[in-house]
Amino acid sequence: MSDQSQPAKAPPARSNRKGHEMPESVADGGMADAERDILAELEKALGEHVSLLLRWNRKLVLPYASAPEDTDDDDHDCDFGAWYELNRHNRLIDQPAMHALAATHKQLHDSAKRLLTAQEVDGDIDSAEFDMMSLRAESFFAQLRRLERAFRTARSDVDPLTGTYNRQTMLSDLNSERERAIRTNVPTAIALVDLDHFKAVNDTYGHQSGDVVLQSIAGILQSHVRPFDKVYRYGGEEFLICLPNADMKQCARVLERLRRVIEASPVSLTDGTILPVTASIGAAPMTKTRSVEQIIEKADKALYAAKEGGRNRVRVWRNPDGKPPPQKQKQDT
Ligand code: GH3
Ligand code: MG
Ligand code: MG
Repeated sequence: MSDQSQPAKAPPARSNRKGHEMPESVADGGMADAERDILAELEKALGEHVSLLLRWNRKLVLPYASAPEDTDDDDHDCDFGAWYELNRHNRLIDQPAMHALAATHKQLHDSAKRLLTAQEVDGDIDSAEFDMMSLRAESFFAQLRRLERAFRTARSDVDPLTGTYNRQTMLSDLNSERERAIRTNVPTAIALVDLDHFKAVNDTYGHQSGDVVLQSIAGILQSHVRPFDKVYRYGGEEFLICLPNADMKQCARVLERLRRVIEASPVSLTDGTILPVTASIGAAPMTKTRSVEQIIEKADKALYAAKEGGRNRVRVWRNPDGKPPPQKQKQDT
């Protein structure tokens, strides 16, 4: 649909202590590589701690239930702490916001450790400590997102009109997400959101009002996706959302919620006009048999079907034989 730049070079990888791949120390690359590595590390830390938090909560709420299959045994093992220790003196990382994040990270793990030990030893947990862990988790995620944003803004990765990510690093981000989805066998999807009859908004109310509508919709998208979903401005009035950890059923649910919020949130223009806005949305799953560009193309086909179907609706890409797309990567070989 729009111009596509080449994916950025992937950061060099090596094995960490758990045998997973992680970027080299940021000291090893050039400036741009180092910044990309930091962003990749922050993104990984987010995903890792969302999983850890779910696991901790499960153990606290269901102490006698066996752990789900393929769960790591170590409740406190995470890559972020080790990465920070290795790189804390690098000049890109040696700054107050990063040290504050590391401190919150440590407090979060300490809280979890105390709670899990109390649960194991006394069979009981302190509710104030539990609340504290939740607050620390929230603070960790918020700090992490702010830092990530600061790095991106510094790199001009943010679209100045809408505040969403722009296309600067979109393809390299999506390639990393695709690789992660394949490696971890976790379903991930891409969605395209296109405003309906947007040209008529410009034609009737002027380009500036059109800009206000774009800002309003971008705000809705960013505040109603899940914390680890990412919104990019893909073209003029089109946004791309990457939805990790979502099979097509979950993805359709998140997107349908977004569609409804947009429909229910008319935009107030400066002349007092209250303007109803709707969007059509198309989505497609990431698979190992398709490149990111091909997956975007499938999402675009689904978007086209949503437009053809009457607009203001969500469509998920389906195989031409009519079968729903496979939910698990491993079935899609
Ligand atoms: P459809 O329902 O089929 O998507 O119709 P549409 O009118 O939304 O689609 P079309 O592609 O015909 O028009 C998109 C319009 O978006 C045309 C272009 O002028 C406008 N546009 C693109 N970027 C911007 C921008 O940054 N600000 C404003 N105000 N308008 C923009
Ligand atoms: Mg369009
Ligand atoms: Mg449109």
